[in-house]
Amino acid sequence: MTLTEIKQALADRHLRPLASLGQNFLFDQNICRQIVAALAPAAGDRVLEIGPGLGALTERLLELDLRLTALEIDKGLCAYLRDKFGRSPNFTLVEGDAAQTLPTLSGPDRAIGNLPYNVATPLLVTLLQLPAPPRRCVFMLQKEMAARLAAAPRTKSYGAVSVLLQTYYRVEPLRTLRGQVFYPAPAVDSTVVALTLREDRPAFGADRQREFYQFVRRGFSQRRKKLRNLIPAFAGDQRAEELTVSEWGEFFQMQSEKSKMQNFRAGMNLEEIFDIVDEHDRVIGSAPRAEVHARGLRHRAAHVLIFNAAGDVLIQLRAPNKYRHPNTWDSSAAGHVDSGEDYLAAALRETREELGVTVSAGELREIAYLRACAETGQEFVKVYEVRHDGPFRLQAAEVAAVRWIAVPALERWMRERAADFAPALPYLLGRLRCQPR
Ligand code: SAM
Repeated sequence: MTLTEIKQALADRHLRPLASLGQNFLFDQNICRQIVAALAPAAGDRVLEIGPGLGALTERLLELDLRLTALEIDKGLCAYLRDKFGRSPNFTLVEGDAAQTLPTLSGPDRAIGNLPYNVATPLLVTLLQLPAPPRRCVFMLQKEMAARLAAAPRTKSYGAVSVLLQTYYRVEPLRTLRGQVFYPAPAVDSTVVALTLREDRPAFGADRQREFYQFVRRGFSQRRKKLRNLIPAFAGDQRAEELTVSEWGEFFQMQSEKSKMQNFRAGMNLEEIFDIVDEHDRVIGSAPRAEVHARGLRHRAAHVLIFNAAGDVLIQLRAPNKYRHPNTWDSSAAGHVDSGEDYLAAALRETREELGVTVSAGELREIAYLRACAETGQEFVKVYEVRHDGPFRLQAAEVAAVRWIAVPALERWMRERAADFAPALPYLLGRLRCQPR
């Protein structure tokens, strides 16, 4: 639509652009074409348009082979749109507030819109909560808002919305436009951004996603504070803006698994249950942790040794409140195998829970299998090694600190001050030395 046509359409219907609904109508034809081209719809795609207004983008979209659903709140504009496009079999108009009508729609393939500035954030959050969010979106947004969506860690614009959006989408700013391409011209610049759904996004349902957003918002609520002062479970030294998007995801995942398990145990008044095994490591029963230890029953544990690029090994200082061997140095991560769990699953879980890093089963290499004996506290132990250079986010309840150390230096330290170490570590390193690597 040209500027003259826009003014005429409004005058014919006795309408005036409403600032309260962010009504700034785009009249530059080339820009309309570019925005639709960036959406790149495929034949037959279901496309969602938010806030069609007088239909500047709508008419370009309907030139293509697609099915369009448009969400518009303004009654006067809805009447105009029905007159203009109502005969097209590919056009459906949904009248009302998009924040309410959006969740009732089933999975559009793509979404587009020149989004009203005041509702852009809640609309984007709602869009992500659809059971099947659109694969690609192109939105025109206020320039500062677009900068927030695309922001990198350690920048002023990086915040909870950046983390949430980038968890789901790759965000690509396409071009910035001055207010003069709209009628009436807003005082601010706008940026067109393309969003492409990430293959590796988490499979959160809407509730978990809301929790994730609240969790990240809590972290960013006082940007200058260290994260551990806002989320006590955080053991590192960083501020919210220093965590990358994937680190936020891992931290949230780790926290919710830990608290789920704690709530479950507290709710059920349960103690940890271990499998009891015979001298051949075959399961012969199960018992609560306290009983297993008090009676010296054979059970299972997994240890993980993490090596960095320089070949140094990571050791952890066990937290002071640990029941066994507090304040002593131990393997990078270690823990009991829970009842029904296997060694590998326990190794992956302990690495995630204690050190805040997720490694895959394929990355862990089994390097030793130790028989239950006095030195291992009657534990059969499988030892795994993995290459990882950190950073680590320590679970404060379990781990007081970690440090890298060269293996010869560690062995020297062990010879000189054995009491600094949990007994299993010198024993398993000694056994490793005896077996071919
Ligand atoms: N797409 C048109 C264009 O580019 O010229 C109009 C864009 S104008 C910036 C924003 C449009 O969104 C207006 O038509 C306005 O009435 C509509 N709108 C505002 N808030 C809305 C809401 N909550 N739900 C649906 N539409 C809304």
